[in-house]
Amino acid sequence: MNQTSKIISKAKEEGRKALLEPEAKTICVEYGIPVTQFKVASNENEAAKYADEIGYPVVLKIVSPDIIHKSDAGGVMVDLKNAEEVTDAYKKILENVKKYNTNAKIVGILVQEMAPQSTETIVGAIKDPQFGQTVMFGLGGIFVEILKDVSFRIAPLTTNDAKDMITELKAYPLLKGYRNTPPIDVDALVNILCNTSRLVMDNPEIKELDLNPVLAYQKGAKTVDARIILE
Ligand code: ADP
Ligand code: MG
Repeated sequence: MNQTSKIISKAKEEGRKALLEPEAKTICVEYGIPVTQFKVASNENEAAKYADEIGYPVVLKIVSPDIIHKSDAGGVMVDLKNAEEVTDAYKKILENVKKYNTNAKIVGILVQEMAPQSTETIVGAIKDPQFGQTVMFGLGGIFVEILKDVSFRIAPLTTNDAKDMITELKAYPLLKGYRNTPPIDVDALVNILCNTSRLVMDNPEIKELDLNPVLAYQKGAKTVDARIILE
């Protein structure tokens, strides 16, 4: 578990509370939470080279300690199909971000595998002042934002806790499959919830964790965006 402690100490030394997406995803990988393959590029040629290695289509995202909500800053470009689209997107993202926040410190641009569209879920954790580390699960978009259809459990989670968190959602029938929509891999989500519980229990300095979205598939699930905030 050494990458995790190293990343957290480094952020503390630099006086940063929010981990960068590549840092948060490196921690996820260490805890067995699947994420989209990624590399951080520091110029457009490097971005194109990484995109070739990862395979098209790819997604490019800003990496900056000053940009927490990347799409709000025009810092995310998806479905890039070749090297030319990658170099264009690289320039465009820097331009957008500079307009959004002139003083934003740019660490680089994240090049990542584009995950196929599927059911979007959200896995979260917050450190409750009374109950301590608490894990959250919900479906993406309107389910969380408008219908508040989410479930919570105090960590540490057992496998059964994680299963219950999924099945007690009002939207659970959508995950179970309906008409010609196939069922999604509930066990893959159970694993992610249990590993998230382990992650926040091992690292009490984590104040908030947000895996949003986690794309759920017929087989497996993948975290496309990860945010971790320290105390
Ligand atoms: P933020 O939440 O900081 O604005 P995200 O990384 O979540 O940025 O990107 C915004 C949206 O772009 C995501 O909700 C998702 O729909 C899409 N997206 C981001 N990365 C990927 C990816 N690797 N594969 C597929 N879709 C992606
Ligand atoms: Mg996001």
